[in-house]
Parts: sequence; C-alpha cells; structure tokens
Amino acid sequence: MTETKPCKWCQKAIVRADEATEFNWARRLFCNSRCRKALDRQMECNGNHATQSARSRNTPITQEEATRFVGLVSAGVSDADAAKQLGRASPEILTRRAIMFGLMPPRRAEPGAELAPIATKPERIEPLKAGADETWRAMMPDLSWKEAQAMTAHMGRF
Ligand SMILES: [Zn+2]
Repeated sequence: MTETKPCKWCQKAIVRADEATEFNWARRLFCNSRCRKALDRQMECNGNHATQSARSRNTPITQEEATRFVGLVSAGVSDADAAKQLGRASPEILTRRAIMFGLMPPRRAEPGAELAPIATKPERIEPLKAGADETWRAMMPDLSWKEAQAMTAHMGRF
C-alpha cells in the first residue's frame, strides 16, 4: 500500500514515491517547494516576532517609574543609581520621560532656549527720585517737595 504523511505546511497528504529511499522519504516534509518556502517565511516571521518581544521586554518607562525616579533623584540619589534601582539602564531616558510627564523641569535647555527666560524677565525698574512728581504729587497735590522739605527741616535728618 502507498505510504503518505501530511505536508508540514498545508497538511495535504504527501505520497511516498515508490522509488523514494527511506532516507529521502524521512526528509520529505512538504508536498512541494512552495510549502517549504511558505514555512520558511513563517519561521522568519516568528523569528522577527521573537526578536520584537525580546526588545519589548525593554518596555517604555511608565509614569510610575518616572515618578519613582524623580523621587529617588530628589532624595539625593544619583541619576545612574536611581536608574539602577529601577532596573533601567539609561538615566537619560528616565530623565527624558520624567520631563515628558512634567515631573521635572527640563534640565538642559536647547541652545537658544536658554536665552528665552532672560528675555522674558521683567526689565529693571529704576526707582523714582525722592519727591518725583509721579509719587509726591499724587500724595500731596498742594504741597511741593521743596516746601515739604523746608517744613520738615527742623526735624533733622533721619
Ligand atoms: Zn504542502
């Protein structure tokens, strides 16, 4: 009787040729080369998936982790040690994520951005001279600064 086995890919029965040796028959896994290639492709694909999941074990840093990182750093732990305690390799990424979550202010301003806070600082306001109209006149519209000084001259300097 004819020997058969299912193709590893399409499950279709592969019929053993009469002349096929035991060795060749054992090696025969696919009904045709297309099925062999299809399985190869899938293996490759699985391979990629495996690589991907290995990579995704390096999962994105959660807000909770970033919060703990900021907590450690503000407690005086160095960035590198804080990252180590969280099982993370890169304190830079933790810092970036913490900044992204708004847990810490940006540390290194981009070149140029550094100048922005200076530009937005209020301009220095020069104090007005004693007795300047802007202040004195507002309080004492009927008395000049000079008169007031003359009136208080006897009080001496204070
Ligand atoms: Zn097949």
